[in-house]
Formats: sequence, structure tokens, C-alpha cells
Amino acid sequence: MSRFHEVRFLTSAAAAGQFPPDAGAEVAFAGRSNAGKSSAINAITQRRGLARTSKTPGRTRLLNFFELAPAKRLVDLPGYGYASVPAAARRTWLPLIDALRERASLIGLFLIVDARRGLTPGDAGLLEWIGPHHRVHVLLSKADKLSRAQGAAALRKASQQLAGRATAQLFSAVKGTGVAEAGETLAGWLGT
Ligand code: GDP
Repeated sequence: MSRFHEVRFLTSAAAAGQFPPDAGAEVAFAGRSNAGKSSAINAITQRRGLARTSKTPGRTRLLNFFELAPAKRLVDLPGYGYASVPAAARRTWLPLIDALRERASLIGLFLIVDARRGLTPGDAGLLEWIGPHHRVHVLLSKADKLSRAQGAAALRKASQQLAGRATAQLFSAVKGTGVAEAGETLAGWLGT
């Protein structure tokens, strides 16, 4: 049973003026495109297809807000990492995520990283972008693609690289590995 009982899609924002009121608490989910972010959101909220909204053509460069409980939100950030993202798109979404970072209700970031690939320069850039004042939790996704030993090595390496800046765990939306742990961390942050 989901610990988030009232999950619902709130809104897609193309500009800061379209964000929901800056009250309560929210956690951003970010990751390189194809890292498994939508699958992670669906697994943690136990709403199959919830994050599909964020994949609807036209919404992929928007910020998508979901309400997990009254005044407790998850914000799905656009995937990043493809050099081919047009400069024009960067010009629109950079100010958008900058505005998100300034919100008092933003308390932390879940960073989705493909466990096989490990942290990329794009991930490092995102950590730099969020700065030192927000909690960060890294989900090493698709852990089912690794052996137990490989998974342990991936977690060790990521933890070393993060050097205390963020917590990290293995995660698999397919096998369910770490889904409960991720949900507990998220609920703990949000106070739900
Ligand atoms: P997003 O672009 O970061 O939102 O990534 P998606 O959630 O859409 O997943 C990208 C691809 O990875 C899809 O083909 C998924 O089926 C696959 N995927 C996502 N999570 C897992 C997982 O836990 N295990 C495996 N094996 N594949 C996964």
C-alpha cells in the first residue's frame, strides 16, 4: 500500500508564474534522460503511469508538479544530458529551474542515476546547481541490471564521489529493490 494516499497531478509549468503557491514542502526529481526517473516516480508513488504525464509531447521541457499529500509535492524536472537540446530550450528551462530552486518550499532533490553508468558530468552539474542548502538523495536505478557485487561496487563508488554531499541507495523499479527505502526517505523529508 502506498504511503502517499492522495497522489494527483497538479500542473505543468512553463513559467515560474504557473508554479503552485510556494507553501508547504516539495522535493524535486531529476536525472539524465532515460535514467529511469519516470519509473522511479511511478514505483515510489505506486501510481503506474503517473509520471507518464511528464512524457506527453509538449510537456517534456516543463516542470510537472504532483501532490503527494496536502501541501506536499513532488516536482518532476525535465531530463537532461543530451547535447542536442537546442539552446532555445535551455534558455527557457534554465530560468524555470532557477526559479524552482529559489522557492522556500523546495526542501530537497532526488537524483536518479543509472547504476550501470554512475554519476555523469551532467549529474555533477545538477548538484552544483542545487547548491549546499538542499538535501540530496541519489537513486542508483536499474540495479536489477547489475549483479549483487556490481551493485555494491556502484554504490561504493557513488558514495565516494558524493563524499557526504548526498545519500545514495540502489534502486530498481522493475524488481522493487529499494523502493520502500526511497519512499521512506521521501516521506521523512516531506513529513508525511
Ligand atoms: P526517464 O527518461 O528517466 O523518465 O526514464 P524511464 O523511467 O522512462 O525509463 C527509461 C528506460 O529504462 C525504459 O525503457 C524503462 O523501461 C527502463 N527502466 C526504468 N527503470 C528500470 C529498472 O528499474 N530496471 C530496468 N531493467 N529498466 C528500467
